[in-house]
Amino acid sequence: CRGRQAYVTLATNDTYGLGCLVLGESLRRVGTTKELVVMVTRHVSDAMRHSLEKTFDHVKLFDLLDSNDAGNLALLQRPELGVTLTKIHCWTLTEYRRAVFLDADTMVVRNCDELFDQYQEFSAAPDVGWPDCFNSGVFVYKPSLATYRSILAFAVKNGSFDGGDQGLLNMYFSDWARGSIKKHLPFIYNMVASIVYTYQPAFRLNADQVKIIHFLGPVKPWHWQYDIQGRCLMSDTGSLGDAGDLLTLWWNILISRAMPNIE
Ligand code: UDP
Ligand code: MN
Repeated sequence: CRGRQAYVTLATNDTYGLGCLVLGESLRRVGTTKELVVMVTRHVSDAMRHSLEKTFDHVKLFDLLDSNDAGNLALLQRPELGVTLTKIHCWTLTEYRRAVFLDADTMVVRNCDELFDQYQEFSAAPDVGWPDCFNSGVFVYKPSLATYRSILAFAVKNGSFDGGDQGLLNMYFSDWARGSIKKHLPFIYNMVASIVYTYQPAFRLNADQVKIIHFLGPVKPWHWQYDIQGRCLMSDTGSLGDAGDLLTLWWNILISRAMPNIE
């Protein structure tokens, strides 16, 4: 028995909830056979949770501040880690033997269910800003309460060098850069959308291998304006090239697959 396996994502507000809806529908579109889980906090509206329930198998509510867990109380001294620590809750999903965490600003364009069989805890792809760090937007992991508590205790003691989950997880899994290459996911599993213009020849060469797109950075797909009638982005996407195509795909999934579920 291989045990249950799931893709897990996170939204702490309705805007990121929209990202989760598109991500979830992108996974359905490529025919995943894994369960889909979205972690939400109480700031996500009831309407958004109902929409999420139509795409995801499970919508799980988490609330850091209500916890009577001593570790969490200590964390209240570190308010900057709020959203970050909500992400860490993915380790508590112990009903799954193995899981893949995906940021709400990712989109799956090809089936990537092999992630569950070919990679082990803890596997992630390099970050484009500092490739000796992994990017924490996509990772394969094994849910475990012991690991959860250990990361939490580590966070209380050491914080995060960048103030977010990526800094914390890179400090915790600090052997990633020089450890086993088996823990390095190929870039096709966490392709930062901007690479399309920063290293266009490499993107062109590998475009038909790419499986997961990550819209990392301050400008997210939902910040763009889209012409629903014309089914295209309102801004001039000619200058964006292939990046425009990825944004348009995100919007097309939103309009044709997610919108019918939005209340
Ligand atoms: N997130 C969230 N609410 C926030 C900020 C972040 O739910 O206000 C979650 C969401 O899943 C998001 C992830 O945390 O994808 C990481 O944040 P983001 O993707 O914005 O960071 P980036 O990848 O751009 O560094
Ligand atoms: Mn992200």
